Amino acid sequence: VTFADLGLSEPIFHAVADAGYIHPTPIQEQAIPVVLQGRDVLGCAQTGTGKTASFVLPMLDILAGSRAKARMPRSLILEPTRELALQVAENFVKYGKHLKLVHALLIGGESMDEQKAVLNAGVDVLIATPGRLLDLFERGRILLADCKVLVIDEADRMLDMGFIPDVERIVSLLPPLRQTLFFSATMAPEIRRLADAFLRNPREITV
Ligand code: AMP
Repeated sequence: VTFADLGLSEPIFHAVADAGYIHPTPIQEQAIPVVLQGRDVLGCAQTGTGKTASFVLPMLDILAGSRAKARMPRSLILEPTRELALQVAENFVKYGKHLKLVHALLIGGESMDEQKAVLNAGVDVLIATPGRLLDLFERGRILLADCKVLVIDEADRMLDMGFIPDVERIVSLLPPLRQTLFFSATMAPEIRRLADAFLRNPREITV
């Protein structure tokens, strides 16, 4: 299997080729076609498996072709830490370089004024830690009605860090008709319960 077999559109396929990738990793091979079909995914995969590209590439494909309205992001990627959020943002830039999509990084330690300005201009992809996202939401800076693709990454670390109540609150603010991609390195009972609550008829992928 090569990247050409996965159904990604031209600009994204080109960015992958520019990155020097030829063969998708197992999580990419299994997840990308399913996400492109619009289905939910429950992915059991650790960092280092190519997990990030398995959701960033098809998300870019889904979002390409239209643009966000002011304060109305079209997708949200939740990460447990600043470092992971920064890595995902780097991936977004690398794989989205032939597209005109806009992302915002909503993490602690970055200027709130800058984040507000970017949100006002219209953001296609929010990459956020739960606390900062809720903070900006509560200040009325973000409307989530158009946010129809959700990624919850590293759910087991969200649990370890005590972020599950924030994640549940955020999910309750999103439109019920959405596509959700949920990743965790382990599937403890509490993680399974969350996956059941957040996902609709997901394809389960374990690598
Ligand atoms: P991740 O598991 O998403 O943190 O990715 C681990 C590393 O593998 C990153 O440095 C990626 O740039 C790299 N990578 C992801 N997908 C591929 C691929 N299909 N071929 C080669 N390297 C890849």
